[in-house]
Amino acid sequence: MTDWQAEAARLDAADPLAAHRSDFIIDEDLAYLDGNSLGALPSATPDRVAEVVRDEWGEGLISSWNTANWIDLPQRIGAKIAPLVGAQPHEVVVADSVSVNLFKLISAALAMQQGRKVVLSEPGNFPTDLYMIDGLEKQRLAERRLADRADIESALNDDVALLLLTHVHYKTGAMFDMARLTKAAHDAGALVLWDLSHSVGAVPVDLNGAGADFAVGCGYKYLNGGPGAPAFAWVAERHHADLQQPLSGWMGHAKPFKFADDYTPAPGVDQLLCGTPPIVSMSALEVGVDLMAGIGIEALVAKSRQLSEFTRAATAAVVPELPCISPEDPERRGSQLSFRHEHAYELCQALIARRVVGDFRAPDVLRLGFAPAYVRFADCWRAVSELRDILDSGEWRKAKYAERGQVT
Ligand SMILES: *Cc1c(COP(=O)(O)O)cnc(C)c1O
Repeated sequence: MTDWQAEAARLDAADPLAAHRSDFIIDEDLAYLDGNSLGALPSATPDRVAEVVRDEWGEGLISSWNTANWIDLPQRIGAKIAPLVGAQPHEVVVADSVSVNLFKLISAALAMQQGRKVVLSEPGNFPTDLYMIDGLEKQRLAERRLADRADIESALNDDVALLLLTHVHYKTGAMFDMARLTKAAHDAGALVLWDLSHSVGAVPVDLNGAGADFAVGCGYKYLNGGPGAPAFAWVAERHHADLQQPLSGWMGHAKPFKFADDYTPAPGVDQLLCGTPPIVSMSALEVGVDLMAGIGIEALVAKSRQLSEFTRAATAAVVPELPCISPEDPERRGSQLSFRHEHAYELCQALIARRVVGDFRAPDVLRLGFAPAYVRFADCWRAVSELRDILDSGEWRKAKYAERGQVT
């Protein structure tokens, strides 16, 4: 029988990223397996934010737009995200939320597709992706169509303008073959927009290698940008000349400080800026992105796979009654494992009470996320052994674990 605790200790001792845990402020006794929902706080962020507020804002005041290079932050951080997703530095910009960037890029894609209005996605996609299509449908600009993931390729017919998919599914962790789906969409004359929210910083992504058209991604998950951190948007260089997005705010103007009456879009992805960038939030995001870019995507991916493989094997052996709904092949899943249980919510709460933080996704999924920069194999083992204990003792049945907060 495997001694899982000893195996975890062995893997931690051999982990080339082990020292990076101290790049984050996380209690020593905390097993934080929810970095796929809100990334941990980088140790350098509080001082950097204080510096931006006290020095750059407090003393530099308005001159900091130039002297502290605030004005370049959206492009500067975008260029640092680029190598994590197989993009060129000038193809990525940081702005707004994922939801707003979806609106901009779905609209831009529809504008490029004369005579086609259908945006194809899958049922059960992350809600905001579907809701943003709905909003455009109400404006009579889009027509929403959903096909189960196994049927997407056959649903790509000649009225589909855009295929909008989330690369790694938030609930199951299943990962699409980006190159294959992109090619299938292109063969049908459709464009493709990938939501990389659960991918960036954790799984291999090669947007240009796949020949994709557009992408968006989240700043507060594996990029550790902090709650509500700005998101990013990517547009393949070949589309820059034709890019036309409807949120034509002044920061996306070619010459914002000319204060012209008429809108002339800035070249390339700069046009995706809308209003004034949130400098304090962006400065926090930059610290998180610097950390991930410094470690490098190959090392992050390698550790992510090791963590989830260890946890999958340990769970299957120790808690066999908990079915794993994530793909078995680590190449086909993101940096998470999801388990189905009728009382997943209560199990999750009982785990949290024991300082093992995973999360619950309605109606019946317990999700464990593996942020490779700071999660230890010992954390994964603790999750498994505490689950065993919570199920054996029936502790999850305590009434307090059934109480639900506004955010679950
Ligand atoms: C987290 C997440 C988002 C977040 O969208 P916001 O508008 O930035 O809150 C979007 N899409 C997916 C797939 C996500 O996982």
